[in-house]
Amino acid sequence: MKLPGSPFVAYRGRELHLEDCALADLAQRFGTPLYAYSRSAMLEALAGYQRALAGRDHLICYAMKANSNLAVLQTFAQAGCGFDIVSGGELARVLAAGGDAAKVVFSGVGKTRAEMAQALEAGVACFNVESESELEQLSDVATRAGRTARISLRVNPDVDAKTHPYISTGLKGNKFGVAHERALATYRRAAALPGIEVVGIDCHIGSQITDTGPYLDALDRVLDLVEAVETLGITLHHIDLGGGLGITYTDEQPPQAEALVRALLARIDARGHGHRKILLEPGRSLVGNAGVLLASVLYLKPGGAKNFCIVDAAMNDLMRPAMYEAWMGIVPGMQRDEAPQTMDVVGPVCESGDWLGRDRHLAVRAGDTLAVLSAGAYGMSMASNYNTRGRAAEVMVSGSDARLIRDREQPADLFRGEHLLPR
Ligand SMILES: *Cc1c(COP(=O)(O)O)cnc(C)c1O
Repeated sequence: MKLPGSPFVAYRGRELHLEDCALADLAQRFGTPLYAYSRSAMLEALAGYQRALAGRDHLICYAMKANSNLAVLQTFAQAGCGFDIVSGGELARVLAAGGDAAKVVFSGVGKTRAEMAQALEAGVACFNVESESELEQLSDVATRAGRTARISLRVNPDVDAKTHPYISTGLKGNKFGVAHERALATYRRAAALPGIEVVGIDCHIGSQITDTGPYLDALDRVLDLVEAVETLGITLHHIDLGGGLGITYTDEQPPQAEALVRALLARIDARGHGHRKILLEPGRSLVGNAGVLLASVLYLKPGGAKNFCIVDAAMNDLMRPAMYEAWMGIVPGMQRDEAPQTMDVVGPVCESGDWLGRDRHLAVRAGDTLAVLSAGAYGMSMASNYNTRGRAAEVMVSGSDARLIRDREQPADLFRGEHLLPR
């Protein structure tokens, strides 16, 4: 049986493996719910981008909101990667993981003064500025701190990434970026402000994009702007094309990272911009297929209209199905001979939206391990404590080695910091 997603997740005989680790064994050893990641799958995904960019001035900034575990960041930092951050908390994680602030770009529409000061102090490579008000405030914070903020303007290219509306970010009606028609005036303002040094331009059109077309459209719009900005005498040293490349959850066929980047570089060269530094901010495509969420079957609950398979992982562990109605593969850790039944795989949370998969064909019994596939991105990083459920443990697998990279949260962890009222 060929599984969608990563070649690092496969059956050997009846047992599902991640690299050389049997997933049912990991569930036994570390308990469930459990996120397990393949280190090789992450490095291989990164290598696709690196191959296409070899020999060019470039920086790959892993968009760490996809999965911000310190060991994941460490893995990428050691492989030469930079980071795209969206909060001061993420900056603190990069530094704790041994990452280099000089390889960090800071994105996001709502940076606070404190976050700006923290990032200036750390020496981030670039602020991806998303509005004129943010620009004015950054200038003020930098001037007071006696520092210079290197900036890029995130422009909104107004292209349709043809993805889910919640994860499409490059259309006019989105909150993100500076409108294309405001970009020139904003660059002129940036060049005149104290404490600001213009270094680049960026865009990010959405997530889970499965076509090259929207990227090339956005690139053309960005290059038009680069040319217009430079007639103002402002030099743009780098072009940052954001992230957003999709992965295979079921039957999607996104371009390989290497092919996508080669197509982008060919267009950049054809338009005479080959000398510029290229930045990319991939998130999902570096980690999504590298991870699985393991759950144990608690109860089978046959019903007239539906059969339910109740597992110990829930929407608080993995939001994507409840939030985007996302389809994610669910397969058993150990294949059984029985005929599969059709069932909804649901969690214990008190919400009807708490499901991981609907109408799945599974042969399972209580106590079996199930694996939700391609759960490495926007899984653990979006997990919550809803229903006072501790967040899952995480392990990193490398060959036959599996290491705990995050402890399972305990009940006392969940109300630490809460206070009773005086009697
Ligand atoms: C989320 C995000 C990314 C990464 O998106 P993916 O779809 O995970 O690749 C890159 N850049 C910015 C600004 C983002 O907000």
